[in-house]
Amino acid sequence: MIDLHTHTIFSDGELIPSELVRRAVIHGYKAIALTDHADYTNLEQLIEAGQKAKYLENEWDIRVLAGVELTHVPPRKIAPLAKKAKELGADIVVVHGETISEPVAPGTNSESVACEYVDILAHPGLISEEDVEKAKDNNVCLEITARNGHNRTNGHVARLALEIGATILVNTDTHAPEDLITDETAMKIAMGAGLTEVRAREALKASAKKIAEIV
Ligand SMILES: [Zn+2]
Ligand SMILES: [Zn+2]
Repeated sequence: MIDLHTHTIFSDGELIPSELVRRAVIHGYKAIALTDHADYTNLEQLIEAGQKAKYLENEWDIRVLAGVELTHVPPRKIAPLAKKAKELGADIVVVHGETISEPVAPGTNSESVACEYVDILAHPGLISEEDVEKAKDNNVCLEITARNGHNRTNGHVARLALEIGATILVNTDTHAPEDLITDETAMKIAMGAGLTEVRAREALKASAKKIAEIV
């Protein structure tokens, strides 16, 4: 499993990075991105913590990526903050997309898919065709999520991404130990979103490709 969207106690997760990574190793993870909820107030601390967590790579057979999830940041401020995150050394920038289960500001999806510093648009809800096209053009991956609530629109995201040719990947958005999954469960989530087995496998492989591009 490669999971590019997880949370620790540095935002609203339950585990410190070492605990989360240890449990990920036991689940057979090959790589994990620590992507705590970030805005203008805590970007530096989160990226620094993520970089420090890389010491675990020397101890266990897992890649640890320092990331952030820009969350409820006003849409016009997303691009400059994403740029700043990369300048501060973030391996990966995720944006908290327009999930139907939270009042995410309209325009969050369209600003994110237009930004060269955004790697993944998480749980993009009822994303428009136009934004999926932009995601494809700008190489922003769209997320199929294991997380309850956000996962209600997985089918919509998968259908449009397939039709248009945007890249989809599967993340857990882990907040608690029981949220971590195996490859087998990730396949079920991808196929539950309407992907064929072949397409589901591609979605799982897309995460490894993304890492190869960004790190
Ligand atoms: Zn959260
Ligand atoms: Zn998240």
